[in-house]
Amino acid sequence: MMIKPAVIVYVASEGDIIKLINYAKKKEVALAVRTGGHSYTGASSGAGDVIQLDLSGKRWDTSQGDYPFNFFRYANGLVTAGPAIPLVSFAHKMRDNGVFCAFGECPDVHLGGHCQTGK
Ligand SMILES: Cc1cc2nc3c(=O)[nH]c(=O)nc-3n(C[C@H](O)[C@H](O)[C@H](O)COP(=O)(O)OP(=O)(O)OC[C@H]3O[C@@H](n4cnc5c(N)ncnc54)[C@H](O)[C@@H]3O)c2cc1C
Repeated sequence: MMIKPAVIVYVASEGDIIKLINYAKKKEVALAVRTGGHSYTGASSGAGDVIQLDLSGKRWDTSQGDYPFNFFRYANGLVTAGPAIPLVSFAHKMRDNGVFCAFGECPDVHLGGHCQTGK
């Protein structure tokens, strides 16, 4: 089967995501979330009547400021990070803050998909 969603949606805020989820529920259409797009099974794409929610930030217009889903904060020993951070950027930010945890090393894999156990 060809892996190809019916439509790809790019969002600019959490409010956009909520609207999209409500729309998909109302229309009874499946949603697939993509950050890095490395899913072995195609789970972040789907096929047929599937809406793909793309959180990669690849189409983000930087003149609007930072992409809202690739933030990284470190305070009081706690890291808070958004799903759109590629692992290479996450590694650099962790290093810059002198903190460590074990994770993968593929530069283009993003935190959102990586935290979903690698499916
Ligand atoms: C060519 C290749 C090389 C790889 N190399 C490495 C490596 O060096 N080290 C390593 O540890 N792993 C590696 N992997 C495995 C990789 O960590 C997993 O496949 C991981 O899930 C990919 O994350 P992604 O963001 O790229 O994927 P995606 O395809 O975007 O997402 C993977 C899954 O997570 C879900 N998901 C994504 N974002 C979100 C979100 N924000 N909220 C909820 N669900 C979400 C998707 O729907 C999908 O089910 C590799 C995979 C491939 C195909």
